[in-house]
Amino acid sequence: MKEWFRRQPKHFTPATRDSGQQIPDNMWVKCSSCGELNYVKQLNDNLKVCKCGYHMRLTAREWLGLLDADTFVEEDAELAPSDPLEFVSTKDVYVQKLAENQERTGLNDALVSGHGTIQGNPLHIAVSEFTFIGGSMGSVYGERLARAAERAAELQHPLLTITATGGARQHEGVLSLMQMAKTNMALTRLAAIGQPHFALLVDPCYAGVMASYASVADVIIAEPGARIGFAGQRVIEQTIRQKLPAHFQTAEFMVEHGMIDMVVPRAELRATLARLLRLYGGTASNDVVADDIPATLQV
Ligand SMILES: [Zn+2]
Repeated sequence: MKEWFRRQPKHFTPATRDSGQQIPDNMWVKCSSCGELNYVKQLNDNLKVCKCGYHMRLTAREWLGLLDADTFVEEDAELAPSDPLEFVSTKDVYVQKLAENQERTGLNDALVSGHGTIQGNPLHIAVSEFTFIGGSMGSVYGERLARAAERAAELQHPLLTITATGGARQHEGVLSLMQMAKTNMALTRLAAIGQPHFALLVDPCYAGVMASYASVADVIIAEPGARIGFAGQRVIEQTIRQKLPAHFQTAEFMVEHGMIDMVVPRAELRATLARLLRLYGGTASNDVVADDIPATLQV
């Protein structure tokens, strides 16, 4: 797993941003969970997982390092967001916010999609970028995701979605909410031809995206400690006036309660996905052995 990042250094920019923290000389990164300092090189070798086990955030481009080297081909990059509602609030002006986020991330919206391979198994992939307006789903995000699912169906490929998001993008109003139905319709067509959708949920994964495509996958995987839900814990507690259990809305809580299928540490993700692609896709190597079946799926 370490190898896939090393082979593609251009896809792995050492962390300077985690929970907004900026380390001046880029030599050390403070873990926002345990507060310990991590030497950047060591942290990168460890796929941005702290010694304490905390999984720091990766960018969409870094996530593409899960694919075999140089196999990613981006699609629909030409789609560009617009400002259909001419949205202005007391906090921000949407067109300005878009421009700032585009300049900072080098992306034109919060989802990157295309196709590639993992251990030779072809797949379509759609990855959200949390640092782009909170990984929120607007029209371009939804259209890219729907097209990725439609192309996967056309080519009879599995689809992998990797999601960290705050939900639907309020700046595009009901057009954002429409993406929930549109993405699920495209996934229904993928399911109809018998190709799987694998969803990897990354911290945090909430609201309109969890209420649509991210929670309907055939196999739902989450990273350790990822927070997953619809409304946040504080909002629920204030609404129902009850204290919620410890670890509520964590990946571990979700797997215990049957909402997701697996919690997989980052170092084991690529091998796990390769096994799943072989098992469900059946397009590459067919030499599946019992060991290939993840423990949580063995009956
Ligand atoms: Zn830590």
